[in-house]
Amino acid sequence: MTITGSVGEGGVNRKKDVTAVQKLLAAGGRYSGTASGVCDATLIKASRGFQATFAKHPDGRIDPGGATLKKLTELEPPPRTGPGAAADWSGDSSQWTQEKKLQSLEPGFRVKVEAVLAALTASSFAPRIVFGWRSAAVQKKLKAEGKSTLSFSFHCSQHKDGTPNSWAADIIDKRWAYSEDAEANGFWEALGAAAKAQGLVWGGDWKTFPDVSHIQGRANSELAATKAESGL
Ligand SMILES: [Zn+2]
Repeated sequence: MTITGSVGEGGVNRKKDVTAVQKLLAAGGRYSGTASGVCDATLIKASRGFQATFAKHPDGRIDPGGATLKKLTELEPPPRTGPGAAADWSGDSSQWTQEKKLQSLEPGFRVKVEAVLAALTASSFAPRIVFGWRSAAVQKKLKAEGKSTLSFSFHCSQHKDGTPNSWAADIIDKRWAYSEDAEANGFWEALGAAAKAQGLVWGGDWKTFPDVSHIQGRANSELAATKAESGL
């Protein structure tokens, strides 16, 4: 996605550019107004809120070629059909590339997960996503093996057409994975802190079934609604 001039606070605000930004913010769940093409206080507030997820000094302005536009473009849903569609969501999703795992996340949640990964990397960790989305079938298998207590988890959230829209991610440090070294080196604690700084839920806080590598973008109380939204 490109824009021809700046959008937002003090921007040029050409109608076509403003509309494009409004649509992308809305796709990421960051803007609830209409794609009116008019830059108003609601849009500037939404832009600042979005920038606050990755920048220290949100200025409410989106520039052509700037960091905010790049992040916004990531909110653009991948094409579902036709040439260029990331069509093959089958198979073992733990074996997908990091990029594909990121693509399998709900777009607004993805932005926060990327901020968590960046914070961990900045603290000299080597974070890797193990699972973003996984199919309900894989989830049932994990439950049968005793690796999960749920037959539907936030990892299984999807669009009604079956394409991934995960509200959860499992993150490890590639050097230690699930070994005791991860705990000894403070990785789980750092993951929890970085997740909570983004307003996410960390599975390590759960009392009955602590899940230290797990972070999610919704509260456990929203699981039934997420399942219904997924058409499952
Ligand atoms: Zn998980």
